[in-house]
Amino acid sequence: MDEHDKRRLGEQVEPGGRPKAPGRLELLQRFINSHNHDLPREWDRLGTPERAQAWLRQKRLVAPGERISDVDVARLRELREAMRALAVANQDGQSGAAATDVIRSLSAGAQLSVAIDDTGRTALEPAGRGVDRAVATLLGILHEAQLTGHWSRLKGCRQCGYAFFDRSKNRSAAWCAMSICGNRTKNRAYYRRRRASTR
Ligand SMILES: [Zn+2]
Repeated sequence: MDEHDKRRLGEQVEPGGRPKAPGRLELLQRFINSHNHDLPREWDRLGTPERAQAWLRQKRLVAPGERISDVDVARLRELREAMRALAVANQDGQSGAAATDVIRSLSAGAQLSVAIDDTGRTALEPAGRGVDRAVATLLGILHEAQLTGHWSRLKGCRQCGYAFFDRSKNRSAAWCAMSICGNRTKNRAYYRRRRASTR
């Protein structure tokens, strides 16, 4: 993958050409993939208040003119890494207990209500303003995806933490793309074994 494609990862490009998560879960997937530790820090789409504001505006997670502070950015990144930890837990089956503590404290200011339209159809509607509203929207998506069963297919890559949607029948995918992280992990294991055997 060249740098041009790498910069578009998480938005226009998916590793291995995977389809994005279905429905509203795609937005939560993009949120988690606004950065990962494999990419330069300055590429973080939530790296500064200005960048975070532009990203949240583009996704309609905040209203025009709503300002994002340094504290807001820190909260968003905390939420992102906690969501990533839950996605990694979907992949490796380990506990996401530390992440749930973080989400629990961040969700304190996030309010959702159940809206109903004239046909009787219900939807979770975020209340509040600014980042509180954005956090509420993202938590609502997490909740919905757990009800539909899609959440368990959103997994954090074993190597880079990228959140990918696993459509495989046996739900066994562990890497964002075998050609990127799967091979990297295998090569490392190979060299480790080789080093060990020549000692
Ligand atoms: Zn990966």
